[in-house]
Amino acid sequence: MKAAIAGAGIAGLAAANALAARGWTVDVYEKSPGLRSSGYAIDFFGPGYDAAEQMGLVPAIRQHALKIDDVIFVNEDDRPASTLNLKYAMQAAGDRWISLLRGDLEKVLHAALPEGVTLHYGHKAEGAQSKDGKGVLQFSDGSQVEADLVIGADGVHSAVRRSVFGPESGFSRFLGYHTAAFVFEDEALHREIGDAVRALNLPGRQVWLYPLDERSGDASKSRGELAAFFVHSAQEERPSEDPKAELRRVYGDLGWHVPRILQVLDTVDDLYFDSLSQIEMERWHDGRVVLLGDAAWAVTLLAGQGASLGVGGALALAEMLGDGSAIDQGLAAFETALMPDILDKQKAGRQAASWFAPQTAFGLTIRHIVLRILNLPGLSRLIGPLLAPSAKGFSL
Ligand SMILES: Cc1cc2nc3c(=O)[nH]c(=O)nc-3n(C[C@H](O)[C@H](O)[C@H](O)COP(=O)(O)OP(=O)(O)OC[C@H]3O[C@@H](n4cnc5c(N)ncnc54)[C@H](O)[C@@H]3O)c2cc1C
Repeated sequence: MKAAIAGAGIAGLAAANALAARGWTVDVYEKSPGLRSSGYAIDFFGPGYDAAEQMGLVPAIRQHALKIDDVIFVNEDDRPASTLNLKYAMQAAGDRWISLLRGDLEKVLHAALPEGVTLHYGHKAEGAQSKDGKGVLQFSDGSQVEADLVIGADGVHSAVRRSVFGPESGFSRFLGYHTAAFVFEDEALHREIGDAVRALNLPGRQVWLYPLDERSGDASKSRGELAAFFVHSAQEERPSEDPKAELRRVYGDLGWHVPRILQVLDTVDDLYFDSLSQIEMERWHDGRVVLLGDAAWAVTLLAGQGASLGVGGALALAEMLGDGSAIDQGLAAFETALMPDILDKQKAGRQAASWFAPQTAFGLTIRHIVLRILNLPGLSRLIGPLLAPSAKGFSL
């Protein structure tokens, strides 16, 4: 059987791995010219971790694990206001939790691709259709390929979804925030912030700084790498045409390390910038075209599991399709099995918004107080269950 996948992100690469392992011939079409860069730090647990374990990828993923145990929320003068002990959440997940860069997860999935998978970089999918029992994937240069199944794993702004199911506005639920992230090097700043993630939280605005040291202690990795991550309230779903200008406008009056980060911004050429919007659909497939990952069900970073759902969803899809002898039944079963869990995780993400990114000073104060109480001796064990309520796999 032949699959054509649009998008070589986490979901697309995981699907290529899982389908090839079941005897499929897979072609992956990615619009970027090559593997994407590091992106931002993610926590990988839940269904994705379970799937990665089944695919034998956990040891390779662990090699990129970041040394992140604590998130310290600071004031503008860098004084700690409260601390989130991630190690309790990791323990609650039975240590089945890895923090790493999104790009490193993609690298592991890419390196694991078996024979039978061909990657085509620089191929931008324009649309898809199901025709005569086949899937057809069309590209921006006017060419097209035919396969037994087309998988749209082309992210939250999916071109495959738009062409098969209609405009993004029909499926997008804007959660009221814009976000940005990039990786940069600054040895002095890295030394200053130390081992923990430090986050400046103000009503409706957050700046996080991650020191990117790997647990493996690989000395060949460059020292002084940091990831900066911003989240701020926004009225308009559509981010400004000039993301750097938006960041300077929203954060330009802040102290702490922000002026330094904004200065680096000028030199950044792979800035991630987007609105936080969930994708809500009643079905993910139409004939021989199916959506996967953010293209189908973006949960946003507020649910903290998009990458995990991409890998878990890819393995679930491959399991339901098997050798491809009953594709239509497999696609129907995939939707029925995953939809309830995905809806739960999206709801959890929406509910997490006021906790993760409080819009008011009162909301922030309450969060600091709750975290301080939870850090009291004897109460810390409550943090794990609070942080990882949905760290379970799909109930297939
Ligand atoms: C700041 C931030 C923090 C996050 N933290 C976490 C976390 O802690 N845990 C977690 O699990 N998730 C987290 N996420 C979410 C996670 O990163 C995403 O859900 C996940 O990367 C989605 O993977 P995907 O493969 O579905 O889509 P994408 O990563 O968007 O990949 C889509 C791919 O398709 C390509 N593409 C797009 N359009 C086309 C086209 N027309 N033709 C061909 N190729 C195309 C893109 O270049 C890309 O390679 C976070 C997200 C952000 C932004």
